[in-house]
Amino acid sequence: MDNIQQVAGQIAALRKQIAQYDHEYYVLDAPSVPDSEYDRLFRELQALEQAHPELIDSDSPTQRVGGAPLPELLPVRHRIPMLSIETETDITPNGARAFDARVRKKLGLADSDPPIEYAAELKFDGLAISLRYENGLLVQAATRGDGEVGEDVTQNIRTIRQVPLRLKGDAPEILEVRGEVYMSRPDFERYNERQRALGKQTLVNPRNGAAGAVRQLDSRLTAQRLLSCFVYGLGETQGWNIPASHNEVLDALQRFGFPVCTERTTGLGPEPLIAFHDAIAAKRDQLPYDIDGVVYKVNRLDLQRELGFRSREPHWAVAHKFPAQEALTEVLAIDVQVGRTGAITPVARLKPVFVGGVTVTNATLHNQDEIDRKDIRIGDTVSVRRAGDVIPEIVSVLKERRPENALSYNLLNAVNHQCPVCGSHAVRLEDEVVARCTGGLFCAAQRKQAILHFASRRAMDIEGLGEKLVDQLVDAGLVHSLADIYKLDVQTLANLDRMAGKSAQNLIEALQRSKQTTLARFIYALGIRNVGEATAKDLARHFGSLQGLLATNAEALQQVPDVGPVIADSIVQFMAETHNQEVINALVAAGVHWEEGAGSNTNGLLSGKTLVLTGTLPNMSRDEAKALIEAAGGKVAGSVSRKTDYVVAGAEAGSKLEKAQALGVSILDKAGLLALLSQ
Ligand code: NAD
Repeated sequence: MDNIQQVAGQIAALRKQIAQYDHEYYVLDAPSVPDSEYDRLFRELQALEQAHPELIDSDSPTQRVGGAPLPELLPVRHRIPMLSIETETDITPNGARAFDARVRKKLGLADSDPPIEYAAELKFDGLAISLRYENGLLVQAATRGDGEVGEDVTQNIRTIRQVPLRLKGDAPEILEVRGEVYMSRPDFERYNERQRALGKQTLVNPRNGAAGAVRQLDSRLTAQRLLSCFVYGLGETQGWNIPASHNEVLDALQRFGFPVCTERTTGLGPEPLIAFHDAIAAKRDQLPYDIDGVVYKVNRLDLQRELGFRSREPHWAVAHKFPAQEALTEVLAIDVQVGRTGAITPVARLKPVFVGGVTVTNATLHNQDEIDRKDIRIGDTVSVRRAGDVIPEIVSVLKERRPENALSYNLLNAVNHQCPVCGSHAVRLEDEVVARCTGGLFCAAQRKQAILHFASRRAMDIEGLGEKLVDQLVDAGLVHSLADIYKLDVQTLANLDRMAGKSAQNLIEALQRSKQTTLARFIYALGIRNVGEATAKDLARHFGSLQGLLATNAEALQQVPDVGPVIADSIVQFMAETHNQEVINALVAAGVHWEEGAGSNTNGLLSGKTLVLTGTLPNMSRDEAKALIEAAGGKVAGSVSRKTDYVVAGAEAGSKLEKAQALGVSILDKAGLLALLSQ
């Protein structure tokens, strides 16, 4: 037998803990534990109270809805309380049957009586809202608060485009609707991506994102956090002939212009509810918003009224939940993964945990800033989120559960400033949040992608060298480096999957053909970060030769049109890596060739024009000036004649300048030249 005092103590401790979590969740919009953890404690408390009804207190969280309204927002007393929904603890199909049995019992029905009609819909994971319309106009929007008194958030709700400000059709005198404000997953992901890129704090989950935005004091901030809305029920109404059933109410609300979710159904008895639950569970990941379950409701409103409600929830509805999308686990270690673009991403190895319907063992940590901001350490207890198709991530750390020996982590130190796959330098560029392997083509992790890029149509245009084949070539160890593709022969290829018949021969011919290329294509094909097709063309034009490009530096690179410090830096980094130089040499040795030299540009700004350089230009060598002119399609001549279009004159210009003046040739200084080039 339980010692009653011990139970009372347990109950008090649970209430205190739950009250703290309620405050964090409902008032601060900043939960410190996942819902699954909260629900576990809540159920524990419910069970203890059920076993000891004499200990139930109207103050207990099990007897109340939600949390206290924020004092900064005006209070709104709900004319009809906003309740919660009972959660069916049995998450098997039997949950729906148990609900049906309870309803039938409460209505005093015998087994021989006809089945009850139910409506089934989604349980949106957002923030409950009450919208009040008077004569068709939105006059007030309020949060649920403690169910009796909520907060006035009208200005904020007006920023949500889906919420009609004026109703369509013949609007009742008073119509209060209840619904859920939420942040869609794509909007949530985009918001967090942007925050991460700016090095700012991310949202824990879409629900918190929505709740925080709705309870903002500045509605401009609400508007920035794109919110959406679904309505699913009624509050007070006057001057309206309310339809007889829940699904007809929803149809009517839709006609008034409200957003009503189309994922809903009605059916007789519990079996259609089970089918709905299963169908939604199967497509939960594909939905563009978070749901935490489905809701079953008695469809007929007269029966709903007959069934009534108790302190925090109606007797005519139940929530049948899905596996939680957030759960607690431990960080066992932190590893890194090298992506196809060389990004080195920290990955948390987790104690296996069932979350979002699957067992999760890894979570992305995105980048060092994210680790630092969330202060994630090895050994920490963390909340992991897995929703939709998105890679699981750690959303928060439970600092109070941090063991003393928890280890902080620094990615570049952990990898010793080297790519763990290929050993090249790992760096973090100044304006980037991610660390990268500089190994480029040499790095096995990047090799497949590099080969595919190299072979692509706008690069070396090697027809037939696709993903499946590249996978085989790299996995079988036939291609270690880009140049190896030119060592392949028909025999080797014919032994691979799908390479029977003429395929192998065709590929060898395509490889052979690709060797004759252009410098621009070759530069583009190397897959230098930030160097796209257009930049590759600019570089080819500017330098005219591969040697010119290889010998360059960041400053000279920035003379190329559209090349700024970021691109220049990527090129210098790439060229400095010995592995990359080896790859380039090997490709040239394999027979890849192009026509070198300048002046190949016939549609440049200066095409057909002849210029003469004289004197010293400020901060620009004669070679650089020449390269710029040639890059724009112009010709640089050694002496001035009537055919000269421009003379570019710097300090201490001599006879050439005089001759130009005598012949009436246009004379430019450096600024004039640059202006001409940027027309
Ligand atoms: P609830 O969110 O589980 O269910 C009731 C709410 O469901 C309603 O108020 C309504 O807003 C919403 N709802 C969504 N779709 C609906 C539909 N189709 N029809 C009717 N209602 C619909 O209950 P609750 O009382 O809001 O709070 C409990 C939830 O909050 C639990 O999930 C709990 O884990 C979580 N919580 C978490 C913490 C924490 O610290 N992590 C703290 C407090 C509460």
